[in-house]
Amino acid sequence: ATGLLCFCRAGFEPDLAAELGERAAAAGHHGYARTERGSAYVEWLGTPDPRALDRALPCRDLVFARTKLRLLAELPGIDPGDRIAALLPVLARGRWGELWVEHPDADATRPLSGLARAFANALRPALRKAGHLSATTDPRLPRLHVVLLAGDHLLVAEADPTDASPWPLGIPRLRVPAQAPSRSAAKLEEALLTLLDEDERDRWLQPGMRAADLGAAPGGWSWILARRQLRVQAIDNGPMADAAMDTGLIEHLRADGFRWHPSQPIDWMVCDMVEQPIRVASRMAEWFAHGWCRHSIFNLKLPMKKRWQETRRCLDHFGESAGPLKVLRARQLYHDREEITVFASR
Ligand code: SAM
Repeated sequence: ATGLLCFCRAGFEPDLAAELGERAAAAGHHGYARTERGSAYVEWLGTPDPRALDRALPCRDLVFARTKLRLLAELPGIDPGDRIAALLPVLARGRWGELWVEHPDADATRPLSGLARAFANALRPALRKAGHLSATTDPRLPRLHVVLLAGDHLLVAEADPTDASPWPLGIPRLRVPAQAPSRSAAKLEEALLTLLDEDERDRWLQPGMRAADLGAAPGGWSWILARRQLRVQAIDNGPMADAAMDTGLIEHLRADGFRWHPSQPIDWMVCDMVEQPIRVASRMAEWFAHGWCRHSIFNLKLPMKKRWQETRRCLDHFGESAGPLKVLRARQLYHDREEITVFASR
């Protein structure tokens, strides 16, 4: 088995499979998805040139993939007493700069996390001794991924560290303090960390910048922006938490988030209103078309079945109506449930 291996949120395998299918076809590559609902991963197989396909689908462009790996081999039914012996032959003459032992983030495979840690500790010195692994982490070399599906079933894959998630399992480790007004605060923090790069964060998130937060209550997103010293107009008819208002940087306006707009252009608009995604996408596009904001992060709720099709419909509509954009990125974040998060910048 060679091809691609992508992790996703459990239950979203059909959406990731549909996305990979459409993107692979658009890039002129054949193949088919293999997956099981609830498994939290999708394999893309039957591609004559997996490396070319890998290059044609940058990880950053994928919405439903938490990370993207090149699948090298599948090892089912191995001897759990000597997994290393089963693994070494498929590594051939390969050399990697780092080793990650992972497991899909699904109910059936999450209990393998302890084994993954122990196996990584045993495997690392064995790989170094056999010349497969650099003595210290080397980001210029591909990273070896061993994915545990069961105690006797492994997938072997590799990733270009610049074209894959920087976090094991594609799950970011965030530190959002307990005093955050809501758990959604983690969503915006994750969006800022994963949808913008370091340089963009430095340039585009500066103290004193002005932001609007549509559907702000109880204030988790506003609070995240205030923590970075932005001044926030929080639009919501519902009440804001004290923890948000105590920052002194947030002004609460009781208004309809679909009608309110600033009297002068501002730097940021963020939106977490629960509404039909196409309606949100249209309103977000109006903000850009009118020049009311330069950057936006907004959430699209996807309670429907065909979530990839709806995603594409909303992003296409947004892209066509917003006017020229420098950046348009979308992703189902780890903290996103039945939803995705979009970052746009003009
Ligand atoms: N991002 C917020 C946080 O971190 O605390 C949570 C937002 S919550 C998921 C959605 C909010 O959108 C609700 O507080 C609701 O009152 C607000 N909302 C929904 N429709 C709205 C509208 N048309 N105008 C203003 N607010 C709206």
